[in-house]
Amino acid sequence: MKKFSIYFLAIFFITLASCKKDTTSVLTTAPIGSANALFTPVATPPTDENDSTLLMGNPSQASATSDNNYLLREGYYSVSYNCQYGRPNWVSWHVASSDYGSQARLDNFRENLNVPVGCNAITPQSYTSSGFDKGHMCPSADRTSSFNANSSTFLMTNIIPQAPNNNQQRWARLEDECRTLVQANNEVYIISGVYGEGGSGSNGFVTTLDNGRVTVPAYLWKVIVVIPFGKDDLNRINNSTRVISVLMPNDNTASTDWKQFRTSVDDIETQTGYDILSNVTTGIQTIIESRVDTL
Ligand code: MN
Ligand code: MN
Repeated sequence: MKKFSIYFLAIFFITLASCKKDTTSVLTTAPIGSANALFTPVATPPTDENDSTLLMGNPSQASATSDNNYLLREGYYSVSYNCQYGRPNWVSWHVASSDYGSQARLDNFRENLNVPVGCNAITPQSYTSSGFDKGHMCPSADRTSSFNANSSTFLMTNIIPQAPNNNQQRWARLEDECRTLVQANNEVYIISGVYGEGGSGSNGFVTTLDNGRVTVPAYLWKVIVVIPFGKDDLNRINNSTRVISVLMPNDNTASTDWKQFRTSVDDIETQTGYDILSNVTTGIQTIIESRVDTL
């Protein structure tokens, strides 16, 4: 009898030890809903079609067949990854108030091993002393509902070399604005990306980091579609839907004013060659994409 309890106790601790190993794997791999679920409550990533991270469309037709336009679906956001440039082309996600919770910022920046075969996974070390911040596309603060949600935003495939003052000032204020809109009973679809080569960080103008592993983008852009919280989102987008679009240089000017960088979706489409909001009816796209937000 006693022998048996010792046996079960041993099994219990061996199980504990192996589970513990699984929690550390959360920090190095992306999968959601695996054995990690034993130790971290898994908030279901937004896979429902209504709140899909790609509900507005796939701006560059990213897929598994193109290394420089490689589709990564992380559950909490989707990415077009560029292997040659070592950073995303764009990231697309959805935010509702249920995405906000009590998870503290994890700061577990790490390589994403799900990049295309033959493509070097970028590590946080590529940014060390570079004069550029590890700038999030999908922000940490948009994903605080669970450990996995927040952890997902620190994969380096969601990160670009961003001028520190841009990241910490006007870009950060724009991110705050999105959260203010969500807290005012809206939900938002956000598509954010970069293009061009070379930006000015705290050490001046730079084209690449870490011996060419990461190309510094010249511009950052973001498109925010704002709709009242509800169901059947795509069908609720109409000619008067508010769309906030910005296009700003990746430079280190100190300013919190993001509004001066507002432009039209059409302008961003011209610069990037993408079709943003491609799932919206063409007639509605024509109207909402030509408008520049003034609120
Ligand atoms: Mn940031
Ligand atoms: Mn479009």
